[in-house]
Amino acid sequence: MTSRLAKTASRLARRVQALRSRERRVRLEPFGAIAQLTTPRALVFVDRQYARSLGMDGGALWNNESSDGVIGAEPLRAPLEAHLQLTNRCDAGCKGCYTAATPHASREWSQSAWQKAIDTLAEMGVFHLALGGGESADLPWLGELVEYARARGLVPNLTTSGLSNLDRVLELAPRFGQINVSIDGLGRDYEAVRGFDGFARADHALREIRARTSKVGINVVVTRHNFDKLDQLFAYARKRRLNEVELLRFKPAGRGIQAFAAMTCSQEQHRAFLPTVLKGARKHRLRVRVDCSYMPMLAHHQPSTELLASLAVYGCTGGDFLIGAKAGGQVSACSFAAPPSQGPSVHELAEYWQKEDAFGAFRNWRDAAEPCKSCSYHHLCRGGCKVVSRLLLGDESLPDPECPRVVAAAEQDDARSNASNQRRLPILQELL
Ligand code: SF4
Ligand code: SF4
Repeated sequence: MTSRLAKTASRLARRVQALRSRERRVRLEPFGAIAQLTTPRALVFVDRQYARSLGMDGGALWNNESSDGVIGAEPLRAPLEAHLQLTNRCDAGCKGCYTAATPHASREWSQSAWQKAIDTLAEMGVFHLALGGGESADLPWLGELVEYARARGLVPNLTTSGLSNLDRVLELAPRFGQINVSIDGLGRDYEAVRGFDGFARADHALREIRARTSKVGINVVVTRHNFDKLDQLFAYARKRRLNEVELLRFKPAGRGIQAFAAMTCSQEQHRAFLPTVLKGARKHRLRVRVDCSYMPMLAHHQPSTELLASLAVYGCTGGDFLIGAKAGGQVSACSFAAPPSQGPSVHELAEYWQKEDAFGAFRNWRDAAEPCKSCSYHHLCRGGCKVVSRLLLGDESLPDPECPRVVAAAEQDDARSNASNQRRLPILQELL
């Protein structure tokens, strides 16, 4: 077969796969189904009655009547999205890089290994891929992988620093569901968070990408140094006509472990997070998304649990709604978590997903200690960010120590213990 014919055959095979993949724009679940909408872009959880109205029939999956409409009683049948760290190579050298990326990385998966991983994820029914690194824009085969994902019915999204191989990103821009450029501060504030002056280049990349697609936004890692600058960042996003700002809590992973104490927000800032974001989003008429680790900071303001559930606002859903994969293909519960010991590669995910002990504390969130155990947000929050618990407490199953409710409970315990010590003191003195 000539190479031209081979290319045509391969293109036809992808088209057939793409048509087949349309069948799973709705994925059956014991509670009903998950429907993928394109306008507005959203994944919508529906109960069985609604799923039936879409022509779906869950068969044996729907035998248990008590599961109808109940989300979170058991893990989903597959993740909604997979965060693939395609490479850990990157020249930027950001001081808080959560993957500790360097210009020289080794034992990384090849294009064909990632394509096989995409086959596995497509067969499981995953909807979205979040492609990151390192700097994925440096990979010469990024475009082919993006097309492969599209052909298998998955929507590829990209996070990039904008500092490297911009031409490749620009060429591929219309093929991504969303591109977010990492910008944590404007002008010199960029340097304060990242450790080098890259704002002008990142801003240039953002403007060029925006000229090719409207589906572009910024990722902002929120630290104690840029918290007071969020309003400026929102104004900037509005001025650049971006479609979203995504706020990420600073995580103690990679080089972020060393930088954590100096970068993580103060308790006062964590408590002020939700009103600050709401005010800025309204003022600048922006869509602002916050990452899963911010659920405790939302719960602090006691929003309605029904409202949060109806908007599918969940906390730590690693190993359930989402998974991560390291550059060598090892699966982790999320992109910030370490792979489980004896954990699988993405190629083995379907089998691992069914195991009772899969993802350890991430799946065992119901066995919570106080105050999570009796917290009315626990079924949504799932105990806060396990990556933070692991670093600060040495145990990812313990309540998130930065959660305002956990901090308040600890302060109450301390106050009780101090009061009790003061009461005991005279007795001790009598004994002496
Ligand atoms: S107490 Fe626990 S469950 Fe409740 S908001 Fe805080 S971390 Fe989440
Ligand atoms: S540990 Fe949980 S909350 Fe933290 S980043 Fe991972 S999935 Fe999100």
